Amino acid sequence: MIAELIKLAREVEKCKKCPLHKYRTKPVVGEGDEQASIMLIGEAPGKNEDKEGRPFVGAAGIYLTNILREIGVDRVETYMTNAVKCRPPNNRKPTKKELDACRPYLLKQIEIIKPKVLICLGKCAAYSVLGREVEIKKEAGTLLNCNGTHVMLTYHPAFVMRFRGEYENNFIEHMRHAVLSKYFKKLDGMKKHA
Ligand code: SF4
Repeated sequence: MIAELIKLAREVEKCKKCPLHKYRTKPVVGEGDEQASIMLIGEAPGKNEDKEGRPFVGAAGIYLTNILREIGVDRVETYMTNAVKCRPPNNRKPTKKELDACRPYLLKQIEIIKPKVLICLGKCAAYSVLGREVEIKKEAGTLLNCNGTHVMLTYHPAFVMRFRGEYENNFIEHMRHAVLSKYFKKLDGMKKHA
């Protein structure tokens, strides 16, 4: 593992910057290829993730892994993490204060891994990456150019699993478009897809 990522993981293990440290069994720092061109960011660890210390291993993670496979991506080629590294009690959404407290870890991971494409799964991930509130139902499918990194805003897989239908079709298209964007030489301004 890249030395800087090991250092970051050790900091997270000891971190008490927000109240979520009280509820974690294991912090979930991230997992995957440390030189990945695609990085996926979710909201927060759930019950299974907290138990195993790994991201996206519950039902939503299996669903996401299957969608990635459907569009020709093996999850081991990607790097997966969350906006907060410790599990919120009763799977509630992280608060803005908790997201802000954990954000430096996420930004450091992005700086170390230098992905070509960042996929923000849900509004918490989008907030932590962009540093602004995102109304995900309005902005899902938007591909941004953030200092040369392509950032796709889309739904969280748990939400898509729940509602399926058009959300699922759009989610697959957002994921496909994000993955293909790593081959785009230039991305001008904002583009909305599906
Ligand atoms: S969620 Fe992030 S900021 Fe809060 S205690 Fe865990 S590692 Fe620290």
